[in-house]
Amino acid sequence: MTTLVFTESRLDPAKSRHDEVLPAGKGWSHVVRAGQVFRIVDLEGNQAVDTLFYSAADPSERYSAVDTIREQGGIYLTTGTALLSTEGNVLLQIVADTCGRHDTLGGACAVESNQVRYAIDKKFMHNCRDNFLLELAKYGQGMTKRDLPSNINFFMNVPVTSDGGLSFEDGVSAPGRYVEMRAEQDVLVLISNCPQLNNPCNAYNPTPVRLLVWDAG
Ligand SMILES: [Zn+2]
Repeated sequence: MTTLVFTESRLDPAKSRHDEVLPAGKGWSHVVRAGQVFRIVDLEGNQAVDTLFYSAADPSERYSAVDTIREQGGIYLTTGTALLSTEGNVLLQIVADTCGRHDTLGGACAVESNQVRYAIDKKFMHNCRDNFLLELAKYGQGMTKRDLPSNINFFMNVPVTSDGGLSFEDGVSAPGRYVEMRAEQDVLVLISNCPQLNNPCNAYNPTPVRLLVWDAG
């Protein structure tokens, strides 16, 4: 059994500059400025929050799972993880985490994975890739599916087995657990609050999350 380390935050939600609840299944995007701190709260527990980050100045620079994993020498994201870009720059740094482990291997659900993983008649169910594309379209610049790199799944538990397999397990999160990160540059945050109804990682029950931003200092 892995020991998970929790790091709490001292930031007061009453002093945040942005505070909203994102309903289950919805997409969201927001520019978090350098120095601001961004928190995602898993309100009801075991929700998967599919997330991507782009440099706001140049969205062709974006989150890189492989660089992040290689540089920290581990596959799970938690406090201390530097979320690196495709150019090797730090987009954000995780500064607090009361869940203890987040996935960046499992990817996002899509029409294709719906039919391959579940059933042919699940193909056109609501999915994260469509949420990402709808949000990305707001920023123009011709960004499409090609602009969706491998994402982060906050609060999702995808352990690697001893023989190297990926397993989608019940979450390790719980109601009220949160992850918090400080932007090291202006970052466009793209979220799909996963609408998936066919995966045990969220107990087949998508739930809302709370999103907060605090100013620097
Ligand atoms: Zn999803």
